[in-house]
Amino acid sequence: MIQIDKIREDFPILKRVINGKPLVYFDNAATSQTPQVVIDAIVDYYSNYNANIHRGVHTLSQEATDKYEEARIKVQQHFNAKHAYEIILTAGTTHSINMVASGFASLIQKGDEIIVSALEHHSNIVPWQMLCEKTGAILKVIPMNLDGSLQMDAYHTLVNKKTKVVFCNHVSNALGVVNPIEEIIKKAHQFGAAVLIDGAQATPHIKPDVQALDVDFYVASAHKLCGPTGVGLLYGKKEWLEKLPPYQGGGEMIDVVTFEKTTYAGLPHKFEAGTPNICGGIAFGAGLDYMNAIGFDNIANYEAELLAYGTAELLKIEGVKIYGTTEEKTAVISFNVGEIHPYDIGVILDKLGIAVRTGHHCAQPIMDFYKIPGTIRASFSFYNTKEEIDVFVNGLKRAVMMLS
Ligand SMILES: *Cc1c(COP(=O)(O)O)cnc(C)c1O
Repeated sequence: MIQIDKIREDFPILKRVINGKPLVYFDNAATSQTPQVVIDAIVDYYSNYNANIHRGVHTLSQEATDKYEEARIKVQQHFNAKHAYEIILTAGTTHSINMVASGFASLIQKGDEIIVSALEHHSNIVPWQMLCEKTGAILKVIPMNLDGSLQMDAYHTLVNKKTKVVFCNHVSNALGVVNPIEEIIKKAHQFGAAVLIDGAQATPHIKPDVQALDVDFYVASAHKLCGPTGVGLLYGKKEWLEKLPPYQGGGEMIDVVTFEKTTYAGLPHKFEAGTPNICGGIAFGAGLDYMNAIGFDNIANYEAELLAYGTAELLKIEGVKIYGTTEEKTAVISFNVGEIHPYDIGVILDKLGIAVRTGHHCAQPIMDFYKIPGTIRASFSFYNTKEEIDVFVNGLKRAVMMLS
């Protein structure tokens, strides 16, 4: 059970008033809000033990190192990785994807194939296009259906001996559709291809088990998990992380340096050149603790209620069309009303204190598929309420009246 009143007390920002109205924050798919315990962890770090890690013998440096490595273990446990060193702390999902894509440049040859899904975020498409340009590999796309699901039959025929990497998001950020990643991983492995799953949009709602999934790489961002921006994870299976070359050269990632040759540090430090986002990593751990204390089953059940309620209420409005209508969805509703431009609705909703996202959601290929400029996306979190959905639906009705 979600104790909603108590939970809302944990988020200072939910008391904000925007344009004279209480904030209704429905842009959770872009970033989550931050509970007081995470804000406290950030303040505590800079107030009490700010120091560079891994290098100093002094007390502050040791305290900071211990807390940072504790955070890594929290992430490891949350995702059920076998080893803590399989968790690379990065600047976020985009950074993690680029680390893997650029590493594969040395493992890929001309004519090899890389498969991505039609539902990808731009951060998932561009690094692979760059890799293909560099190596002469070929990019193949798993097509999508009108309901937002992937054409899995097509996927099964796309995978072959030339496939080296398969790339898919766990949940689409534009539509909220949950993808059949188990099936995708299994099939790719039959041909020895590596699978990278973008969990940025799934992890706020689903607790993934990377060992059970048998996934090769899994990436996510702390700022969608009640943590701060600019920090995230790259989980990689030990074998793969050992195969990939380091992404950046610098301090922290080396073992021995001479001008003739440098040997690299072991995992995870090989991928963590320079001073990391120490405070961010620690706060990432605090955010995971907070969400785990509430419980991901509770979160999923409660958000499913919000999704069902929000969908039903929206569909009562004439002209509403929802994109992404599969059975399995997270609490994201992407929609348009008649021919009204999503941006115009977004502006009016903001005047009413309601924060939604409008536009292509960094997924232009999906918008091209539906032949629309974009959508209005309302995305719910476990700290939202049905009352807020009512405020949103009434605001939307007003906006539609003004614009039609
Ligand atoms: C948010 C998001 C990203 C990008 O995450 P950053 O933290 O901005 O790097 C990538 N993929 C999906 C599916 C997302 O939802």
